[in-house]
Amino acid sequence: TWGGRAARAHVSAGRIVASSVEQSYIMVKPDGVQRGLVGEIISRFEKKGFVLKGLKLFQCPKDLAEEHYKDLKEKSFFPGLIEYITSGPVVCMAWEGDGVVASARKLIGATNPLQAEPGTIRGDLAVQTGRNVVHGSDSPDNGKREIDDKLITPFLSVALWFKEGELCEWESVLTPWVVE
Ligand code: ADP
Repeated sequence: TWGGRAARAHVSAGRIVASSVEQSYIMVKPDGVQRGLVGEIISRFEKKGFVLKGLKLFQCPKDLAEEHYKDLKEKSFFPGLIEYITSGPVVCMAWEGDGVVASARKLIGATNPLQAEPGTIRGDLAVQTGRNVVHGSDSPDNGKREIDDKLITPFLSVALWFKEGELCEWESVLTPWVVE
């Protein structure tokens, strides 16, 4: 069933067409949770003007961490990365807005926090690549894969981090003050 997600899709000539609204999967990693940076990180996306559509504290199982980072499987740091991501709870978020994927990458900063610009989350709050406090989707398609794959493949849900019913369909009263 489509439930609340129906609002984000419409039927055109018998086919379900995904809405063009972009979403980014943003995750506070275990170090960010342990260091008490959850509020600070959420605040940066709120203040920017993006809209929060999903949020949960979650203990990531090993198989999900491996699937999420499957493109890095051959890297020497992969086992350490899986251990890190599963070492404690993470905060999973779905943020929505025009251009949110690229913008969130800028707000987050470079993978290596020592190279991240001041003013970015990693630039301000972290020092090491292996403890870089936050994840952000690297493309709109990966945003869908990480949050809500039904937007790509309506009848085959393989979204990684959110289940049916975990996203809220709502409009922020601030939106007209953020986008004309
Ligand atoms: P990003 O998170 O900026 O998109 P990547 O996709 O390249 O960066 O890597 C995913 C995550 O893997 C990084 O955020 C970091 O947690 C980890 N990682 C990447 N490179 C290294 C490394 N050389 N040593 C340890 N961890 C790494």
